[in-house]
Amino acid sequence: MNASPAAPSGLERRLREVVADVRRDEPTSRHVLFRIGGPADLMVIPRSSEELRAAVAVLFEEGHRPVILGNGSNVLVGDRGIRGTVVKIGKGVGRVRIKGAKVSAEAGAGLPAMALRTARRGLAGLEFAAGIPGSVGGAVVMNAGAYGHSMGEVFEAADVLTQDGPICLGPEAMSFGYRTTAIQGRPWVVASVTLALRPDSPELVQSRMQGWLERRGATQPIGRMSAGCFFRNPSGDHAGRLIEAVGCKGLAVGGARVSQIHANYIVNEGGATAADVLALAAQVRARLQERLGVTLELEVKLLGEF
Ligand SMILES: Cc1cc2nc3c(=O)[nH]c(=O)nc-3n(C[C@H](O)[C@H](O)[C@H](O)COP(=O)(O)OP(=O)(O)OC[C@H]3O[C@@H](n4cnc5c(N)ncnc54)[C@H](O)[C@@H]3O)c2cc1C
Repeated sequence: MNASPAAPSGLERRLREVVADVRRDEPTSRHVLFRIGGPADLMVIPRSSEELRAAVAVLFEEGHRPVILGNGSNVLVGDRGIRGTVVKIGKGVGRVRIKGAKVSAEAGAGLPAMALRTARRGLAGLEFAAGIPGSVGGAVVMNAGAYGHSMGEVFEAADVLTQDGPICLGPEAMSFGYRTTAIQGRPWVVASVTLALRPDSPELVQSRMQGWLERRGATQPIGRMSAGCFFRNPSGDHAGRLIEAVGCKGLAVGGARVSQIHANYIVNEGGATAADVLALAAQVRARLQERLGVTLELEVKLLGEF
C-alpha cells in the first residue's frame, strides 16, 4: 500500500489560501536552465503580482526566508534540493508597461523579450541584454551585463518586499557593482522595477542589438544547458581566457563539461549532477591557482543542499 502524503503544514495551508499554484517536492531542475537540482520542499509559483506579495508576506510572517528563483539562468541547485520554500517568479508576474522612455516591469518579465520590444520602439539602453536569458528581477539583482554595459545604467527604482514591508530603492541604495547589488545576501524580494531608457532611432538601436547578438552567437554556447559564465572575471582579465590558457577547455566530470566554445561556461551535456559540476569547477580552480596563482570566484549562485 502506498503511504498517504503527509498532511500540509500550517505554512503550506496559509500559502494555499493566497496562491493557486503551490507544489510539494517540486524538482527544481525543471525551473533552472542548467536542468540540475533536487526537489524543493515547497514551491510557490505566483500567477500575479498580488499573489507574489501575499505569499511573501505569509512567509515573512511565519518567520521563513524564501529562496527566490527568477528564470534560473544564473544558479546551480544542489542534488539534495532546497529545504524550505522556493518562490518562483516567472511569467505570471511579468507585466510590462512602457510610457515614453520609462519601462515599468514586474520582476518575472523576460529580459530578452523586453530588450527586443523596447528596441523596436526606438528606446536605447537594453541592447546588451537581448541575449541574457534572465528575468528582469534577476537581472537587476545580479546587475547583469555584457559588452561594457549593465542593468545599473538604466535602473531607476525597484519595489522590494522586506520583512518590514515593501520599500522603494533607488540606484544609490542598490549599490550596483560588477555582478553585485545590495539585494544579494539579503532576504529581500524584488517585485518590480522601473528602468529609464533613452529615445533613439529604432533602426540604430536594433542594429546595435543585432550586432551583439551575432557576436554572442559566435562565441558562446547558446541553447545549451548552463548557468552562463560560471566564474567571475578576475580583475583586469577574463576567466574564460585564463581557463583556456591552462588547458581546461573540454575537461569533463560525469555529464558536466567545460565548454569547447567558451571556457567560462560549464555545460550539462545530459545527466550532469550538481556534484559533477562542483567537482569540475574545483579542478578548474585548482589548475588556475597552481599554474597562474589566480583564485577564481563563483559568479553562479549556489542554492540548496549539495
Ligand atoms: C546562455 C546564458 C548566457 C548568459 N549571459 C549573461 C551575460 O551576458 N551577462 C550576465 O550578466 N549574465 C548572463 N547570464 C546569467 C544570467 O542570465 C543573468 O545573471 C540573469 O540576469 C539572471 O536572471 P534570472 O532571472 O535567471 O535569475 P536566477 O538565476 O533565477 O537568480 C539569480 C540570483 O538572483 C536571485 N533573484 C532572482 N530573482 C530575484 C528577485 N526577483 N528578487 C530577489 N532575488 C532574486 C536568486 O535568488 C539568485 O540568487 C547568462 C546565462 C546563460 C544561461
